[in-house]
Amino acid sequence: MSFESLALPNFLLRSLEKLGYAEPTPIQAEAIPLILAGKDLRAAAQTGSGKTAAFALPILQGLSAAQEQSRKPRYLVLVPTRELAVQVAEAFERYGEKAPNMARVLAAYGGVGYEAQMKLAYSGVEVVVATPGRLIDLVERRSLELDEVELLTLDEADRLLALGFSEELNQILDMLPPKRQNLLFSATFPQGVVSLADALLKEPARIEL
Ligand code: AMP
Repeated sequence: MSFESLALPNFLLRSLEKLGYAEPTPIQAEAIPLILAGKDLRAAAQTGSGKTAAFALPILQGLSAAQEQSRKPRYLVLVPTRELAVQVAEAFERYGEKAPNMARVLAAYGGVGYEAQMKLAYSGVEVVVATPGRLIDLVERRSLELDEVELLTLDEADRLLALGFSEELNQILDMLPPKRQNLLFSATFPQGVVSLADALLKEPARIEL
């Protein structure tokens, strides 16, 4: 299995080559074609499995195929912690480095001032990687609108729930257009995550490695 056979655009193949990624990890090999096909996905994935690239690469492919740039984000990734928000946003920038139009990515997380995040949001971004609380703050401050989100990713869904973000998640889901693609990644599937997956995902493909 090679990245070439996953039908990824050349600019991504060049970034991956530069990073020294020789071949897709198992979760990438399974998830990327399903996401590119527009399916909802429920994936059991540990940290270190390569799950970030599994969703970031197809998102960057979708972005590069878009006819026009919008000021509002089309891709939303929810993560449980500030560290993960920074990490995931950096991964998007690394993988998208050779894109014809560099992807504009906002990492939105609490514990820091609003100004820089509000400014970037206002200038227009395609991808938002956010912790739930700060995302809601930015929407309430009218820095971000989520009515053009086409694809929602919940990364580390088990930690999102364990950290008590259930109510915020519901609030965010209500802000999104109903017609969208949904991806849920979680290391474990306790009842809360199963219920969330059942409520969120439409006829999902499942990956359990
Ligand atoms: P993640 O599970 O997304 O946190 O990724 C774990 C680590 O694996 C990160 O440091 C990635 O840069 C790296 N990685 C992801 N995909 C590949 C790949 N196909 N080949 C080699 N390294 C990879």
